Amino acid sequence: MSEHPLKKFIAGAICPNCHKTDGVRMWKEDHIFWQDCVYCTFKKSLYETPEANNKTRFIPVKFREI
Ligand SMILES: [Zn+2]
Repeated sequence: MSEHPLKKFIAGAICPNCHKTDGVRMWKEDHIFWQDCVYCTFKKSLYETPEANNKTRFIPVKFREI
């Protein structure tokens, strides 16, 4: 059984692919931050940046697996 990382929506974030607001989620897996978008197929890995935690406000939400 693998753990499901908690995905959090990023308030005010705009998807770089479809340009919709508040659809971008972020989570941490294997010490790497990942982002994806609920409106399109956008998915991206980010290197760990501790500063980003302070600048970005996360809204914890529950979501369903599609
Ligand atoms: Zn998108």
